[in-house]
Amino acid sequence: MPLVQIVGSTATNHTFYIGGAFIQRENKATFAWLFEGVKDILYRRRIPLPRVIITDRDIAQINALKEVLPTARRILCLWHINKAIEAQFKRYFKDLISGPDLEQGRQMLNEEWDTFNTLWRTVYRASEPTTAFFAWARLQATYENNPYIGPMCRYLRIQWYPFKEAFFYCYTKQYLHFGNSVTSRLEGMHSVLKKALGGCQNDLPGVIQRLEGLLEAQEHKIKARISREKMLRWPQFPGYLWSTIQGKVSQFALQTVLDECHALKLDVGSPGAPEGLFRPHEWLLGHARPCSGAWQTSWGLPCPHSIARLILHGGQLQIEHFNIHWALDQRLNTPPTTADIARDPEVLPRHRHARANNERIPSDFELAEEELVLLARQAIEQASQAQEPEVQEEEGPPEGPPEEAPEAQEAPQTGLRRLLQEPPRRPGRSLYPGQFVFRLT
Ligand SMILES: [Zn+2]
Repeated sequence: MPLVQIVGSTATNHTFYIGGAFIQRENKATFAWLFEGVKDILYRRRIPLPRVIITDRDIAQINALKEVLPTARRILCLWHINKAIEAQFKRYFKDLISGPDLEQGRQMLNEEWDTFNTLWRTVYRASEPTTAFFAWARLQATYENNPYIGPMCRYLRIQWYPFKEAFFYCYTKQYLHFGNSVTSRLEGMHSVLKKALGGCQNDLPGVIQRLEGLLEAQEHKIKARISREKMLRWPQFPGYLWSTIQGKVSQFALQTVLDECHALKLDVGSPGAPEGLFRPHEWLLGHARPCSGAWQTSWGLPCPHSIARLILHGGQLQIEHFNIHWALDQRLNTPPTTADIARDPEVLPRHRHARANNERIPSDFELAEEELVLLARQAIEQASQAQEPEVQEEEGPPEGPPEEAPEAQEAPQTGLRRLLQEPPRRPGRSLYPGQFVFRLT
């Protein structure tokens, strides 16, 4: 029975295990059930829904995600894509490498693959859609009439090009993905999980017990790392610019900013910096590339342009310059930052019964809660129909609110019924107690 894993990353860029599920079938309905379960936990814990989800090209998973988390951007794992393309390339060449001149065939295969892969890389790594399009046209023109590689163009055109927005850099750089474009975190967790489970011969209570042990150990480890980072001061971030931010965001976040500055030849006064860097004023005046904002958007970190301007104005890096993801204390009551606000515009569907103009537009989490209450009501109605057929006859009009229906008052006070009869919520009070489960499978 497959065990699906879901992982996330911490501020220190370590992978953690969010959860998993044994599933019977790997189809859309099962994945939708799984994602609904995750969504339910996030709602109850008041954790924002994921904005970006990385998967391999499993159509069942993608379709389930479209349905359950329609606003989350889906990124396809680039590593899996390139592995699939390489395997297909070798398949077309199998006659060459299995012929009598085995060595010669292999050498030819490697050379052809390198050339082809270089051209393909210019397509998916292009920084703008138009550049990607021209690179794609060049690849097609180069190989279209090639008897061996021609079919590869057709394969790419049918299998991968339609999904370009989910893995071409020019598109994915617009999403806040904290530098994740592959599912290697997940692959890394496979071995951790296997070790924790001690093999695949165990009963369900045994597996759950071991998973609980894994989660507990993981929590201790994450907390220990974060406490350590809060106290440490790193020598590569000296001076006024970095002095207040150390201990507030992770060292990984600061190092990523520093590496990006060095990659773009900006000298921020770090000891051991590579040669050939420029001080902020000369960098901004003559050596900086125009800022597209993409790096800042996708990483949730201040880009070299912001850093250079900050230095020139005698400023310091503050927690507000970083997405909350990188904060060591996630409970910090920080105002929304540029990086937080940098998100893709959401196109809301036009409702038939639009809210009145003077009515407040509900927040995302309120809409989500309304949706949960609706689901809970539906579940109660279904349960009432199944278990209490005699009460069904006494039901009020179907449009009436459930609390006015006679059966809702007479029925036993289950968690669901309590939820629906509760007075309006007070701010800060959890709507969903731990024992409330509306999904019965
Ligand atoms: Zn920039």
